[in-house]
Amino acid sequence: MPELATTYRVRRPLTAAELESLRDRIDTAPSTVELLHTTVTGVLDALLADLGDSVTNYGPQAPMDPRQYAIPASQWAAIADAAVNRAQAFGTAVELGLNLINVMPSTYDDPDVPAPDLAVREYRPDRYRIDVTRQAADEITACEQHLQALADAYGPGSDRYRTALASWHRQLANLFSTSRGAETSVHRDGPLCLYVTASSGFVYGVIFHGEQRRCTAPGCTAVADDDPQNPTAVIWRPAPTAASVLDHEHQPSYPAGAPQPGIWSAHS
Ligand SMILES: [Zn+2]
Repeated sequence: MPELATTYRVRRPLTAAELESLRDRIDTAPSTVELLHTTVTGVLDALLADLGDSVTNYGPQAPMDPRQYAIPASQWAAIADAAVNRAQAFGTAVELGLNLINVMPSTYDDPDVPAPDLAVREYRPDRYRIDVTRQAADEITACEQHLQALADAYGPGSDRYRTALASWHRQLANLFSTSRGAETSVHRDGPLCLYVTASSGFVYGVIFHGEQRRCTAPGCTAVADDDPQNPTAVIWRPAPTAASVLDHEHQPSYPAGAPQPGIWSAHS
């Protein structure tokens, strides 16, 4: 990022005492909102004091532009690390990290300023609970069975099986994330789909995106759905956005009765 030093109102390293005070603020913040607020105002008030100014002089009528102030990048990174670590206690480390970037002052490189030691306590809880409803447990079993069916139908080395397996594994591993609070509940949300609520308030769905069966013949855009009356047949229809359906024996991208290829992904 180009450095526009002349536009800064204050640009200097924070003193040891200012950093110490910041660490105390971060250490004792009782919630995510106050943590973000106290971290940012702590940095800005230290710099504004040089001008006899204060964050309290700013508000909706006189907006504060944090980019007019700058601290060394090494200090910025240490403060952000400490605040993000503190946010682990609230399960909001990711959100806090993103918000900090928007409201913290600018940085400049100064190799003479060492990274300060702002190490704070380990805030993450000792134990995490994952709560799974019976319907969700059954659906997780169904997802595993669907994967096994993909392996049986297309081969354990097939792209269809491997991409589905990798996408499912990513979602399972995600359930064990420690960044969303100490309690996570897993519910069923339809066939091969789940929704997950975390004690931080974060909610997301794990959705299976099945591949639409279509005709693979060049020039034909027909798509096919399972025939509910006959598991070994499909019902062909034109794709919604294209009408060029050839009058021929359609070639399905995967056979009638075969398990539907697809992947799982998370949606908040
Ligand atoms: Zn066709």
